[in-house]
Amino acid sequence: MTKPVCIVGGGVAGMQVALVLNTLGVASLLVEKSSALGGRVPLLSKTFPFFNNDGFNDGKEFTDTLERELRLALLSEVRLNTTVDRVDGDFPDFRIRLNDGSMVNASSIVVATGFTPFDPTSLKEYGYGTYPNVVTASELEWMLNARGPTGGRLVRRDGKPAERLAIVFCVGSRNRRIGAPFCSRICCSYSTKQASTVMERNPRAVVVCFYMDVRTYDRGFEEMYSLAQERGVRYVRGRVSQCKQLADGSISVRAENTLLSRPFSGEFDLVSLSTGMRPCENANELARILGIGCGPDGFFLSREWFRHPHDATRDGVFLAGCATGMKPIRNCMIDGAAVAARVTAALRETGSPLFDRNRTTATGLHPAAGEFSTSSEPKTHDSLSST
Ligand SMILES: Cc1cc2nc3c(=O)[nH]c(=O)nc-3n(C[C@H](O)[C@H](O)[C@H](O)COP(=O)(O)OP(=O)(O)OC[C@H]3O[C@@H](n4cnc5c(N)ncnc54)[C@H](O)[C@@H]3O)c2cc1C
Ligand code: SF4
Repeated sequence: MTKPVCIVGGGVAGMQVALVLNTLGVASLLVEKSSALGGRVPLLSKTFPFFNNDGFNDGKEFTDTLERELRLALLSEVRLNTTVDRVDGDFPDFRIRLNDGSMVNASSIVVATGFTPFDPTSLKEYGYGTYPNVVTASELEWMLNARGPTGGRLVRRDGKPAERLAIVFCVGSRNRRIGAPFCSRICCSYSTKQASTVMERNPRAVVVCFYMDVRTYDRGFEEMYSLAQERGVRYVRGRVSQCKQLADGSISVRAENTLLSRPFSGEFDLVSLSTGMRPCENANELARILGIGCGPDGFFLSREWFRHPHDATRDGVFLAGCATGMKPIRNCMIDGAAVAARVTAALRETGSPLFDRNRTTATGLHPAAGEFSTSSEPKTHDSLSST
């Protein structure tokens, strides 16, 4: 009997792996630790770049589309609220214990566990966690989302409209003092998207971005940066040295303008910190369970950087999406497709049986049309007919 590929993590990368494997006729079992699919993307208010977003208004529309396709994919099974506890055996015959103690057999494992935003509480100069009007980029993103708490309106914590926004780049990245010398790669782009969106909605707003360098590197990203400037976003080169709350809750920001060699100070309704990225929660523990390595930045390590960038450091374990470092959605989708092809090729090399058209789900059980299991319990014929 064919064994499924076990995909750990149900963000856009993990879903894409499952969808492409299904197209290739390879069964998969996707385990997602939370109660919903999509990872971080459903929270996004808009997705950059703007020139070709396939008609999706926000991140959730996109992940809903992937989820609908996954429900129709006969060779994919999804289990929510599920994680991997232990792995025995070797490629292509892994035995995996899930968090409820149940066991599944899998031919290979794909890690698509994404990232976690840096928590800036420890960087006292910004006052995050102390001043209510200092927020993180993820909080700003959710505020700008029409599905979010303010219906997409930019407001201070006291509910008053926010018209003066400061955005501080590189918070928690490119900072040797805290052991994070690396660039998080997408915060310049998502911050520029946010700044541009604020100006588009309210041309009277004042939006100032404090940056070290602006790294908007992909197709359409530089154009988005130009558009932000045309809309009136100001870019000031320099590190913010201090944020301080004023009596009315506004935030005074001090920085050194390193282009003009002049100090800068200004008052803002809101300050957003463009936080860098860290590996998924418990990455070290997952690496131990799977027997794979992590790089100095904490993200999972590829065995061969150039030739097989999606192979982890153990045979039969593969890496997709932000599990290897920060990337935009499109690159996660490219990764997901590449990993599905790589896994299929690796299984073919082992002579492992790949195709079994009689099977309808990864565990050989019939799927409940349009439903995912919300626990790690596999569904049986009986439990399905009673739902
Ligand atoms: C503020 C902000 C704005 C952004 N804006 C954009 C944008 O406009 N355009 C763009 O292209 N990109 C944007 N991004 C980047 C985008 O969020 C990522 O590209 C995308 O989320 C990466 O998808 P992923 O599947 O690799 O990881 P994630 O989205 O992190 O998903 C990983 C999934 O794995 C699950 N998981 C983690 N650990 C385990 C485990 N041990 N067991 C089981 N499941 C597990 C998680 O619960 C999650 O569901 C933005 C990011 C931020 C922070
Ligand atoms: S992408 Fe931009 S904001 Fe993020 S760490 Fe790199 S230079 Fe700084």
